[in-house]
Amino acid sequence: MMVLELKNDYDLSKNSTLRVQAKAKIYAEPTSFEDLKELFTLIGAQKLNWHILGAGSNTLLSSRGIDGVVICTNKLDFINDLGDNVFEVGVGTRMPKLCAITAQKSLSGAEFMEGIPGSIGGGIVMNAGAHKSDIASILLSAKVFNTQTLELEDWSKEDLGFEYRKSKINPYEHLIYSGIFKFTPASKETIRAKIQENNHWRTTKQPIKAWTCGCTFKNPEPTVSAGKLIEDLGLKGLREGDFMVSNMHGNFFENTDAGTSIDFCNLMKKVQSEAIKLGVMLKPEVQLMGEFTEDEKSLWG
Ligand SMILES: Cc1cc2nc3c(=O)[nH]c(=O)nc-3n(C[C@H](O)[C@H](O)[C@H](O)COP(=O)(O)OP(=O)(O)OC[C@H]3O[C@@H](n4cnc5c(N)ncnc54)[C@H](O)[C@@H]3O)c2cc1C
Repeated sequence: MMVLELKNDYDLSKNSTLRVQAKAKIYAEPTSFEDLKELFTLIGAQKLNWHILGAGSNTLLSSRGIDGVVICTNKLDFINDLGDNVFEVGVGTRMPKLCAITAQKSLSGAEFMEGIPGSIGGGIVMNAGAHKSDIASILLSAKVFNTQTLELEDWSKEDLGFEYRKSKINPYEHLIYSGIFKFTPASKETIRAKIQENNHWRTTKQPIKAWTCGCTFKNPEPTVSAGKLIEDLGLKGLREGDFMVSNMHGNFFENTDAGTSIDFCNLMKKVQSEAIKLGVMLKPEVQLMGEFTEDEKSLWG
């Protein structure tokens, strides 16, 4: 008998910041390493497909359906003090929460996380970053759940292979269980001033109250902003179904009502094809989950 509760035909529309209509055939929220072992034993025995979902702030869930098990990490939310300003942080912990807790302890390093609505797990996979900092700059290592051996492995920062908004973690092979972070002592005033400055920047530049996944596309070059390029193409306000290129930031696509993954892909396609006319291939930052047509998948290259 399974201890972990599995839910069938689960409504995922509130599991992503895009708020697209989507359903998981099976849904699970493991709370511990033991739950993960139990879940992957079942997945192995029944040969099920599986997908890992953090806060869903960088994922386009398919409105056509998501087969197998969607494993949401929300409840893997813990922080262990390992001493010497080093902390083990569960992957379900939200980044702004880690920022607030470390600021309270007069520890610097997580200020860039303020306003990024993702989990630590999604942050590690994506090497989330802002304000000239990123996960790679404060992470020492990660504990990774091996879905074949059902054991935890220690992966060094080098093993994780961080690049711009990218790591070597393939979510269809490995589940990150926790990250080991090292912070630097600093005064609370300095840390709070930095957080306030970051907050001010974000609230004046991004549509943070709208349903979006943040930046849809990666910047084509470190010095070329995808948002500026889309704005220069005159595409702000462009619509497909209920999705619209934000009037505030060209790289944010807003769900204005009951937008689907189909609307989102159609809008991506229109923007990508306009950028190609300038010789720029915009590559998506947002990740896919579930059923997509070959044409939709080709947008990811
Ligand atoms: C308003 C807004 C602002 C944003 N600003 C920024 C920003 O400034 N900088 C930035 O980098 N990003 C930004 N983002 C994007 C997003 O928040 C980050 O990419 C974040 O790291 C995603 O985390 P998540 O938990 O939501 O990941 P999800 O969207 O849930 O997942 C992302 C990918 O990681 C995989 N994954 C998640 N957890 C695990 C795990 N434990 N093990 C293995 N694989 C896993 C998923 O399968 C998926 O492929 C923003 C988004 C929004 C909505």
